[in-house]
Amino acid sequence: MPLLEIRDMTVGYGRIEALHGISLSVEDGELVTLIGANGAGKTTTMRAISGIRPLTSGSIIFDGQDITRMKAHLRVVAGIVQAPEGRGVFPGMTVQENLDMGHYARKFESKTAYQETLDQVFERFPRLGERRSQVGGTLSGGEQQMVAIGRALMARPRVLLLDEPSMGLAPMVIQSIFKIITEINKTGTTILLVEQNAQQALSRSSRAYILETGEVVKTGPGPELLADPAIKEAYLGVA
Ligand code: ATP
Repeated sequence: MPLLEIRDMTVGYGRIEALHGISLSVEDGELVTLIGANGAGKTTTMRAISGIRPLTSGSIIFDGQDITRMKAHLRVVAGIVQAPEGRGVFPGMTVQENLDMGHYARKFESKTAYQETLDQVFERFPRLGERRSQVGGTLSGGEQQMVAIGRALMARPRVLLLDEPSMGLAPMVIQSIFKIITEINKTGTTILLVEQNAQQALSRSSRAYILETGEVVKTGPGPELLADPAIKEAYLGVA
């Protein structure tokens, strides 16, 4: 049984239907990527999974439970955690305070459990440990992305949702963010990733789905899709 399963999901904005019945699944431990052009419906898919956008029809099953109508904050407690869209770092708050915001879903846990999670995040992102007292707004783009991912990790996700973590970053920084994403996955966190950077994302994914104008048009192992001539032409700028 997949950890996360989307069945025939339709989502709209007013009268405009953005997703026309998409189905996808993520197995426990996988790194699955959603690739698509602007406006294909990637962000809408993430919003529906995290509970920000309601479904018109279809269902979302998480760990065997139908969560289609579950409130967003309860999904976080259940383990579905999205790193903030567009980084979403609180600019006037320190790194430490930003990370603490991610821990609200685990506030029932002991101080020791909190400290353990924080230590793990600083281990994953030593740079954030060094800068824990610096305010978010003065960090570089790459560091802000680390804070966004670190904040999500503070909620101890069972599935981590990442919407274009490479957006607006320099090529070298993109490399290191993808490396970190792969490491987070290898140490046991299931990841659903939305990316326009198809080369990096596909080469690192167990599986991927190609989304075009609100429909899944292709799916397969990441490296296999990377070798597909039609995908190369459409998403990698290779004719
Ligand atoms: P991008 O990479 O540009 O973010 P995307 O694949 O994430 O694209 P979505 O943002 O999910 O695509 O958009 C899917 C469709 O829904 C588009 O046609 C878009 O215009 C529409 N849409 C998205 N957000 C809204 C909104 N708040 N109100 C109305 N229509 C919206």
